[in-house]
Amino acid sequence: MLNIALFGPPGAGKGTQSESLIAKYGLLYISTGDILRKEIASGSELGKKINAITSEGHLVSDELIMSIIRKTIETNPHVEGILFDGFPRNISQAKLLENLMEELGTPFTGVLSLEVPREELITRLINRGKVSGRSDDKEDVILERLKEYEEKTLPVAEYFSKKGNFYPVKGVGSLEEIFDRLVAEIEKHRR
Ligand code: AMP
Repeated sequence: MLNIALFGPPGAGKGTQSESLIAKYGLLYISTGDILRKEIASGSELGKKINAITSEGHLVSDELIMSIIRKTIETNPHVEGILFDGFPRNISQAKLLENLMEELGTPFTGVLSLEVPREELITRLINRGKVSGRSDDKEDVILERLKEYEEKTLPVAEYFSKKGNFYPVKGVGSLEEIFDRLVAEIEKHRR
């Protein structure tokens, strides 16, 4: 089993690299951001509440995140492992992830972190906003998302570093180069 969290700030390339990783390793892909955007697109009452939070660049509640993760796992019981994208986003979610792995009786391989300089992230996100149509890919919201990342998500890196399962990977270069670095790191640490 291979259970990985792909970590990094907004614009680090998590979604893009996830596509190649799930294809190579046959993993269940859980992108909490994608699932939230689907809920928003459905026009449900819950989707409206989510939109009010995400369009400001803030994080939704841990309870909501855990409930969508559990639902996704329940509906996909026979998998080779899981790739989390955009989760965990704070220390409390990091602990919830460890509990979840224990409950499922499956080992947690670790956190792969895409490292990209801040200026490059802002440029990437502004460019993505021109085509993605995402309401949170606008400059003021981008800066708010980076602030949330620095304040709440970055401590997760330290949390797993101390446990010895945080693996930084250079997130700049061609898509293939970055993918090869991720695969090399996975091969070092898979059990
Ligand atoms: P992403 O596509 O991962 O950048 O997520 C888009 C937005 O969804 C984030 O800016 C948050 O508002 C929300 N979101 C996604 N994942 C989480 C999470 N694990 N915890 C809290 N909020 C999240």
